[in-house]
Amino acid sequence: MKIAKNTVVTVNYKLSDAQDNLIEDGRQPMVYLHGGYENTLPKIEEELDGKEVGYSSIIQIEPDDAFGEYDPALVKVEPRSRLPEPLEVGMQFEGMPDGDDDEDAMIFTVTDIADDKVVLDGNHPLAGMALRFSLSVADVREATDEEIAHEHVHGAHGHHHGDEDDEGEEGDHVAIHPIH
Ligand SMILES: [Zn+2]
Repeated sequence: MKIAKNTVVTVNYKLSDAQDNLIEDGRQPMVYLHGGYENTLPKIEEELDGKEVGYSSIIQIEPDDAFGEYDPALVKVEPRSRLPEPLEVGMQFEGMPDGDDDEDAMIFTVTDIADDKVVLDGNHPLAGMALRFSLSVADVREATDEEIAHEHVHGAHGHHHGDEDDEGEEGDHVAIHPIH
């Protein structure tokens, strides 16, 4: 079966930077709903569209087509009192430090902690990097009606609906709270 809109694709992958330094070894395959649902990077979908099980390739994706250029304006310094304890460099928070609810919620990573200040970086950890994906298609199947309606994959390696269902999450993440 060929990869097309509304198929569920299982891809083994390895992710490196442009100098071939390994970023992610993809021990778990990526399983995504194909067809512009933003389940994976558009360049990956473009590369795999029309391909079948067994197809493999290596593609390089520039920052503009991946996680964007690094934006120094997304680095914020916040009073430590605004953040929960315990606090460590590398922790991630979702939200807008300014409480601005006109914008989408962002992920901030703690990059530095001083006595009473915390540096939060809103750039994606892979921002500014060219990414090299080694891809190998392991499975292709038809998506279920429910998966198409939800715009994501269900089951084994896909999305699980728990107590915190993702339906209706849009726009109510203005508070800063830990996600890891
Ligand atoms: Zn769902």
